[in-house]
Amino acid sequence: MAPEILITDTLLIPGDGTPPVAGAAILIRKGRIAWTGPADRCPAAPGAIRIDGRDHLTMPGLVNMHGHAPMTLFRGLADDLELSSWLEDHIFPAEARHVTPEMVYRCSLLAAAEMVLSGTTLAADGYFHEEEVARAFAAIGLRGITAQGIIDFPAPGIKDPADNMTAAAAFLERDFPPLVRPALFAHSPYTCSNHTLIRAKELARQQGVPLFIHVAETRYEQEMIREPRGSSPIRHLDGLGILDQDTVCVHCVWTDDRDLSLLAERGVPVILCPQSHMKLASGMAHLPRMLAAGITVGLGTDGPASNNSLDMFREMDLCAKLQKLHLPDPVAVPARTILDMATRAGVRIAARSDFPGIIAPNRPADLIMLDISQPHLQPFFSPDLLVYAATGADVRTVIIDGRIVVREGTLQTMDLDTIMAGVRALAREVKP
Ligand SMILES: [Zn+2]
Repeated sequence: MAPEILITDTLLIPGDGTPPVAGAAILIRKGRIAWTGPADRCPAAPGAIRIDGRDHLTMPGLVNMHGHAPMTLFRGLADDLELSSWLEDHIFPAEARHVTPEMVYRCSLLAAAEMVLSGTTLAADGYFHEEEVARAFAAIGLRGITAQGIIDFPAPGIKDPADNMTAAAAFLERDFPPLVRPALFAHSPYTCSNHTLIRAKELARQQGVPLFIHVAETRYEQEMIREPRGSSPIRHLDGLGILDQDTVCVHCVWTDDRDLSLLAERGVPVILCPQSHMKLASGMAHLPRMLAAGITVGLGTDGPASNNSLDMFREMDLCAKLQKLHLPDPVAVPARTILDMATRAGVRIAARSDFPGIIAPNRPADLIMLDISQPHLQPFFSPDLLVYAATGADVRTVIIDGRIVVREGTLQTMDLDTIMAGVRALAREVKP
C-alpha cells in the first residue's frame, strides 16, 4: 500500500482557478489527497514520509494527451522535412526495420522517464505493440492511456493490414496495469479506408474505449482521402458517423467554422500539438475559435521525432506565444487558459470519472513540485510564470497515485542510466 506522504510549507497551486496558497500542507493517504490547508492546522501524521516544500511550488501534474512513446528511438533521425517525405522516406522505413516489442518497451521507458522527470503525470499514447508501452508506463509509474494503432499498411506486429482489426480487438482483451487504460488509435483518414475507420469506431464503441485519430493536420489532407464523405477531413469523419465524445481528434489545424461547430455539436475533444505543427509547418490551429465554440482542447507533444522534446512546459509556452503571434492578439489566449488545457482539460478528455486534475481532498494524488528559488522564477507573482518561464528541468518531485516517482529530480522507480544505455544500443543499429 502507498505510504502516507506529508508535504509541508509549500506554495500550493490547487489548479481549480483559486489563488495560490502560501505555507500550505498537503497530506496524501492511500493514493489520494487526504487534506490540504494551512500547515498549522494539518492533522497529525507521525508515520508519514515528509517532503519539505519550502522554496517549492506544488501543482497538479501535467497531462500530455498525444504522443508516440516508442519513437524516442527516431528522435533527431530525420529533421527539417515535409510531412509526407518525413513519413514515407524516413519514419515508415525505419519503423519497418527496427520496431519490435522489445524496442517498443525500451524506448517507451525512456519516453516515460523523460515525461515524469519534466512533470507529466498522465500521458496518452498511440503506436503499435502498445501492450509494451503500457508495461513501460507501469514500470516508470506513469498514468496512461495506451492506444493500439490501426492503419491500412503493413505495420509493426501486423504484416497483413487485413488483420489490423483482429489485432486491435485482441489488444483490448489483454489485462492492463492499474494506472493504464487501453484505447484505439486510427492513424488518419488518409491512411485508413472508410471501412477501416467505421470498424475501428464500432470496436471502440463495443469495448467502451476512446478512439484517437490524427485529422486535418496538413493543408493537403483532403486530397489524400481516397473516398471522401465530406468536403473537409472533419466532415468526412462525420459522414462516416465516427465523431462523438469518445473520438479524440488530434491536430485539427485545417478546420473551418463549420468543422468547429460540428466538433462542438458532437462533443469531440481536440488535442493540439503546437511544436509538431511548427516543426512540420503543418499550420496554425485557431485555438480561440475552438474554445469559443465550446470544444474541450487539450495539449500534446506528439512523438519525439516531430517535436523533439516531451517537455510539456515548453509546449505550453510555445502554444501561448504562437497563438498571440499568429492572430495577432496578445490577449486572446491567456496563460491560465493554456495551463488549464495542460492540466484540467487533459484530465476531462482522458478520464470519464476518477482521474486527478486538481489538488483537493479525495482526488487521486497526482502532483508535481517545482523549485521556484531559481533566478528565472523570481519573483513569483502568479502561476502565469509556469507557462512563460518554467521548464521541465525545474521539476523536483513527482507523485503519481500517491507514489513518489521522482524525488530531488531523480527517477525513483528505475535506473535512468540503464534505460538510456538500452536506447543508445538500439540507436547504434539504426545509425551505426
Ligand atoms: Zn501524432
